[in-house]
Order: sequence, then C-alpha cells, then structure tokens
Amino acid sequence: ALTANKIAAGEVVDRPASVIKELVENAIDAQATMIVIEIREAGKEYIRISDNGMGIHPSDVEIAFERHATSKITQIEDLDKTVSLGFRGEALASIASVSQVELITKTATSISGIHLELHGGKAVLKKEVGCPTGTTVIVKNLFYNTPARFKFLKNNTSESSYIIDLVSKIALAHPDKSFKLINNNIIVFSTAGTGHILHTITSIYGKELAKNMLTARREENNYHVEAYFSKIDMYRGNRQQQAAFVNGRLIKSKVITGAIDEAYRTLLPINKFPICFLYMKIPPSEIDVNIHPAKTEIKFSNEKLIKSLLISVLKDRLLQEKL
Ligand code: ADP
Ligand code: MG
Repeated sequence: ALTANKIAAGEVVDRPASVIKELVENAIDAQATMIVIEIREAGKEYIRISDNGMGIHPSDVEIAFERHATSKITQIEDLDKTVSLGFRGEALASIASVSQVELITKTATSISGIHLELHGGKAVLKKEVGCPTGTTVIVKNLFYNTPARFKFLKNNTSESSYIIDLVSKIALAHPDKSFKLINNNIIVFSTAGTGHILHTITSIYGKELAKNMLTARREENNYHVEAYFSKIDMYRGNRQQQAAFVNGRLIKSKVITGAIDEAYRTLLPINKFPICFLYMKIPPSEIDVNIHPAKTEIKFSNEKLIKSLLISVLKDRLLQEKL
C-alpha cells in the first residue's frame, strides 16, 4: 500500500504548491475560518497549515492517511457535489508517502488532541497533546525519499511564487475566511475574512492597487457577475492578477480571458493585461467542470452569453470612467 501511495502521489503531489492546495482545501472542508500557511525554503523543507476547523476525531487520525479514506463520498453522485473539495481521499496518503508529516488535531468535544508523526507514510509517533480545536499539518522534507521528483522542482523563487499565487487565489475565492501566508518567517499577506472582496484584494495586492480598481455587477438570464478590474492606466505584463471564480471555484477558461481582452482592446497597449477578478454565479446545469488535480477547466453551455455579459459589464464601466 505504501508503494501505491508513492505512485499515486505523483498525480496529486508534484510540487510544494500542490501539497498546499490539498491541505488548504482540507481545512476549508473542515469549515475552518482561519487558515495559516507557513513555508520555509519554498515549501521544500517545511510546510505548515494550521486551521481552526472541526479537527479529526482521535479514532480517525490514522484512517485519514489511508488511501480513499474520504469520509465525504458515500454515493457516486456525491463525487459531483464534492468535486472542488479534495481529491477523493488520496491527498493525505499521497503527501505522507513522500515526506515526513506531523498531524496535530483536536475536535471540539475532545479534551486533548492527538499528535501523530509519519515518515514515508509509516507512523513513527503517536501521543496525546494539549492543543486548540482544529488541525495543524506539517510537511517536512518533501520528496526526501523520491530524489528524482525532488530534482524536478524549480528554484526557490519559482516554487514560492507558485505558492504565493495559489494562496492568493484561494484567499480571493474565500473572502469570508482569514488566510495568513508566512514565507521564511516573513508575513507575505494576511486577509481579514470580512467577506468583502475589496478588503481581500487590498490585503493581498496592496492599497495602491485596490484604490485603482473599478467595480461593476450585472445579471442576465440568471447569470450573475461581479467584477473588480483595473482602470486603463494600470496594467501588467502577464495574467497573474486575473482570476475568475465560478460558483465559488477558481477556474480557467479561454472564453473568460478572451472576453477580458476584448473589453480592454484598443484601451491598453499591446501585450499588456488588466488586473481583473471576476466572481460569477451560473446555474450549475449550464456548466461542466472537469476537475483534475493540476487544473480546473470549465465548459459553458452558453459561451456566447458569458462572453457578451463579461464584455459588457467591463466595457460599460470603462467607457463611463473615460468620459
Ligand atoms: P479527502 O479530502 O478527499 O477526503 P484527504 O486525504 O485530503 O482526502 O483527507 C482525508 C480525510 O482526513 C478527510 O476526509 C477528513 O476527514 C480528514 N482531514 C484531512 N484534513 C483535515 C483537516 N484539516 N481538518 C479536519 N479533517 C481533516
Ligand atoms: Mg482532501
């Protein structure tokens, strides 16, 4: 089973950022409202995710590290409902098989918590500890026993920028939760979890950027869009500060990036991109989401409507600004 986990790990876990994605999703699943993410050496040496969620029951701590240990999926249909939430019971097992993991967890009804430590997926320590309700997962020395995979990692600057971008987007997707990201003992950002998207944008990208954002919203045929986007005198050389959330989930779509480009066409220099965060609510029956651990792709049954809605919501406000 340990070998199977190590192989499976290749699919779920290919770099520190994907470990963090899985662990933060687990914290969100556990209804946490405060999540701290700490990394050292771009997560290669040390990753810590602490949450104030429901914790893991003492009798479940070892089961959580078994493959397909997921407690959420009881029926096949549930797979659709929980698509965003974790990778079907494989994440903890996979991560533990290629690192040294510590789990410290306590449920609200337990008096004391459990500290479990695993090396390469094997439990090496288990003891009772005093700790607050919630869960901390520490992942040390990722890929220490799979050197080929360790060698595949990029330098610390690249790996930490993947992480910062990922956590930024997760925090934007959940403005009602507080996220704190710490890199080599320095706070990268800390969001308040007020539920206000502009607060979240300010915490992550700074006051200057937030001050220059326009907002607009529109509804058509039960498609809702709320947009936060830059004026034409502020732009970037890439799309890193663009994100689209459909029904609460970060998604990638050429239709959406195409619509953003179209709205700003003739307003921006060539090869420059606006900052743009789009929050959309679309009837679930009109989208098809294909979840893969590495990417989330979406198909819209009415691409035309999406495109015209996005272009008009952005463009109308931009033109108004220009007048
Ligand atoms: P999945 O998330 O698909 O269920 P994981 O391997 O990521 O699979 O997690 C296994 C199980 O461990 C989860 O179903 C959950 O019961 C428990 N778990 C993991 N992380 C947490 C957490 N931060 N808080 C509470 N429970 C957790
Ligand atoms: Mg999970």
